[in-house]
Amino acid sequence: MPLDLGMYERRADYKSEKQCQRTSLAFYQAVRDLLPVWLLEDIRATEAFHWEDEGRACAFSPSEALLYALVHDHQQYAHHLLQRFSMHALAMPSASFRCCAHSATPHVAVAVRYNRKNILKMMMDTLKDFADEGEKKLLLNHRVCAHAEGGKTALHLACDLARPECLLLLLGHGACPYVTDRAGDTPLDCLLQQISQSDMDMRTKRVCLGYLVLFMPALRFRMRTELRENPALWSRLIGEQAFQWLSGQCPPSLFVQCMRNVTRSVPDEQLDIVVRGEEEKKRGHESPRGPQIKGK
Ligand SMILES: [Zn+2]
Repeated sequence: MPLDLGMYERRADYKSEKQCQRTSLAFYQAVRDLLPVWLLEDIRATEAFHWEDEGRACAFSPSEALLYALVHDHQQYAHHLLQRFSMHALAMPSASFRCCAHSATPHVAVAVRYNRKNILKMMMDTLKDFADEGEKKLLLNHRVCAHAEGGKTALHLACDLARPECLLLLLGHGACPYVTDRAGDTPLDCLLQQISQSDMDMRTKRVCLGYLVLFMPALRFRMRTELRENPALWSRLIGEQAFQWLSGQCPPSLFVQCMRNVTRSVPDEQLDIVVRGEEEKKRGHESPRGPQIKGK
């Protein structure tokens, strides 16, 4: 249910820019300090205002509050906002929260940037409430504006930052792996560039590569030429088998083909299990179960 802001907008008349700065800082700190949900909602509804360029004091909307919850990983608050306001919590925030007029809704990209996989999962669940399939796709696949993140989508960011759990959540909920950024690169291109640029987090990057391959039956990407021109380098970087698939020299193994069929029919709840498995692995419990592509 959307908030009725009428009362607060009238209250806001007497708020100066300075008062707004003070109250918005107080709200920021309250979320950062992980204060209880009821208290945050009380502050948001009655005390906290931010100042808009056109000289107007505004109460924080659920979508703006969710951005704060994302930044500070306040999972209970994010849960509350998404439960109570559903898709309104994922609506476009007001101008002062955006880079420019071309900015799209920032929540998914912010969740990936800060690696807030639990809140991202809650957001993906909320997407089910979107009646309009086009609107849902837009939220998953839109590019951020050219000034921020080079016009990339959330999937590109997950590849750039090597965030396998976020990548899997996005792919599993219908993000398109063939979408290109403003440079014309697919998420797979970004990931391969990351792999060639640095050895850091190589294991995690290979897990990301495994997930992407599962969701990309047609391997359409720009880096393929580069792979074919430097076979020795690329088979060392991603392993001989992955190199052969990606360069088109041989079809993916039966295992990958079966897994593709499975991922197409797997319910969202089971994606959770895979994501949790990733977390366990990161904490040092070994034996990867995911479709990791191993090096040589
Ligand atoms: Zn911009």
